[in-house]
This record gives sequence, C-alpha cells and structure tokens, in this order.
Amino acid sequence: MDMKSTKGSPILADSVPINKSRLGIHSSLLPCSQSGTSFTTAVPSIPRKKPGKLDDVCSNGWLDAMKSSSPPRKKVLKDFNFVELVPDDAEAAYESWKIRYPSALNCFQTISSRARKRKLVVFLDYDGTLSPIVDDPDRAFMSNDMRRAVRNVAKHFPTAIISGRSRDKVYELVGLTELYYAGSHGMDIIFPAKDMVSRNDLNYVKSTNKEGKEVNLFQPAREFLPMIDEVFMKLVETSKDIPGAKVENHKFCASVHYRNVDPDSWPVIAQYVHDILKDYPRLRLTHGRKVLEIRPVINWDKGKAVEFLLESLGFSNCDDVLPIYIGDDRTDEDAFKVLKKKNYGYGILVSAVTKESNAFFSLKDTSEVQDFLESLVKMAQVDARKHGRSPKPSDYDTD
Ligand SMILES: [Mg+2]
Repeated sequence: MDMKSTKGSPILADSVPINKSRLGIHSSLLPCSQSGTSFTTAVPSIPRKKPGKLDDVCSNGWLDAMKSSSPPRKKVLKDFNFVELVPDDAEAAYESWKIRYPSALNCFQTISSRARKRKLVVFLDYDGTLSPIVDDPDRAFMSNDMRRAVRNVAKHFPTAIISGRSRDKVYELVGLTELYYAGSHGMDIIFPAKDMVSRNDLNYVKSTNKEGKEVNLFQPAREFLPMIDEVFMKLVETSKDIPGAKVENHKFCASVHYRNVDPDSWPVIAQYVHDILKDYPRLRLTHGRKVLEIRPVINWDKGKAVEFLLESLGFSNCDDVLPIYIGDDRTDEDAFKVLKKKNYGYGILVSAVTKESNAFFSLKDTSEVQDFLESLVKMAQVDARKHGRSPKPSDYDTD
C-alpha cells in the first residue's frame, strides 16, 4: 500500500475550502487497501475506573436520548396463553405524519418529472436504509435484490454510499466497485487520483486500491486517528463486563452499541462513555439507533460530504442537478438539512414511525427503498428508449 500525505501533518480545523474538480468516470473508484483498526483489535490492559455519578448522564439528557433512539415496538398483550398485537394509535399517527413527509413512492411522478430535467445524483446511507437493522451490526447484510437495485441505479446515475461505518467495512458489505464510498460519517472519502493534481490541501492523501491503482482520499479528521484508537481501546476495556455491549472502531469515529444490553445497564454504559469523554474535549458524542457514537469535534458531517462529492462531480452551484439522499438515522439529518437549505434536492427519510426530520419525503422500510431504486432504474430505461438508446437486457442485473 502506498500511503503518504501530501504535506506534513494534516490540517484539522473547520470545513476546508474545496476547489472545483471532477471525479471523472466514477466506475474507476475502487476500494482502497488502506484500512483502519480492526473491530477485533486486541485490547491491552487498561486500568478501569469506576464510573462517576450516574447523575451526570441523567442530567445531561443522555439517558433520555438513549431511550428514544430507536422506535418502540408494538405493545404485546400476553394473557390467557395467547399473544396478540394490541392496536394502538401508531398507524393512524403514521398516516397523519405522511401528510408532512409524503411517501417517495406515492410521489414518484413528482420526483421523476423533476429528475428528467436535471442530472440525478443518488446518495445512500447503509444501515437501516439498504440493510435492515439487526442485533449484531456485523450481520447487517444487504440482500442480493437490494445490491442488484443499487448496481442498476449506478449504471445511470452517480451513486454514493455515505455511512457511519469505516469505509473499508461498508465497501465489504456493499461490494460494488462502481460506487463512491464515504465512511466514518463522511470523514473518509475516496476519489480518483487525477483530481489530486490541482489540490493543495493537507487533508488529501494518496493511496492505492486493491488493484494497485492510485486513488485519493479526503480525510478531514486524520489528526484524530491515534485519539480514536486510544478511546476505542478504553471503551472496549470498560464495557467488556456489560453483557451485550459491542464496541466498534470506524477509523475516524467509534461507537458503543447497546441494543443487546439490558436497559437496567444503560445508565452504567452511558456513564462509562461519559467519564471517558471527559478526558477528550476534542471528541463529542452523538446518538444513533441504540448506539452511542464518538466523533471528532470538527465541522464535518454527512451534509458536508454530500457537498464535497457534488462539488467534486462538478455540480457545485449547478441549477441542473437533483441530489437525492436516502437515510434513516439522526446523522442523515445533516445531509437532509443541506438539501433543504439549498432547496435543490430531496431528502428521503426511512422510518416506520413518526419523527421530526429535515427530509422532504419518506419511505417506510428497506423494502420500499428497494422499490424506489428500481423505479429510478425503470424511469432511466424509459428515458433511454425515448432518446433511441434502448438498453439491452444484458446491461442490467436481473437474475
Ligand atoms: Mg442508517
């Protein structure tokens, strides 16, 4: 692996100015061999401190955020040896909520009529969007049908995956070379080597992919790598005795999953994380779906990654681009905000429950995401035929 910084140590500050550039043929983006700390990194012995007062995590709202970070399950009535789903107001509330966040499937005509006048760019979150949320994050696999849908979308439109996972891990799960990948909540973006020439930014890094081709990485949080590794090891050590707790290193951020932790232990795990972070003022905590995420304090998020990729694609300040971002998580709201603020694209929230969002449309689950992606492909096929470019069946993955 060839891995060297363009200059000394990288700049780590607020968002950096981005020069205009083009990524060129996006199929040239291949996975980079650079990799972060493995999820199974051996952890040296670290003295464990007793957690501080639980009052800390109660008073700062962490516990409330943890309890509300995942949709509640339907009430189940267990009585007289039968189990019955209790009807509640959730479905009625959801239908009412869809008035504010209409279904992207029901409104596909609106989306397609606008898309036909513009250049569509598709951004996709991974967990909860392309793959279902499962108890074990290592087993959050996308279906072959979903992979086929994403691959076919990418035949027509630039398509990027923007995930909180490490870039290598999300590539491993998706497995499509024709996509752009941004891992660690957009803090690790890969793009073709030829764009490096005109750039003079310390956050750009040269590397090579697994086929030996030169690629560039944009990593605005490079300075934090040792700090994230250190915190990751502390998190592993302190949470190892909490059944069900799972700590992951996403290279530029770390996460603690508590989906499988007894709720009685949630205050303890929150306090452990809180106590560790007290020593790292340059790191901050965000809440995901049953997961605490530790990230560098920099002005960079999935919204900035969307702007970076659009600019790199040559769509900066263009009136004829239509970005569509599909995601289910709080971190995706940063991308929704960017599209909403610029009023030139559609954020689509994946959710089966009502929640406040900066998205424009909604989809209920990953199945509807797949339907939506397949609708985009059909739209592109119809347009191709209209323009005398009849795609061959062999051009698409249909099996
Ligand atoms: Mg997600």
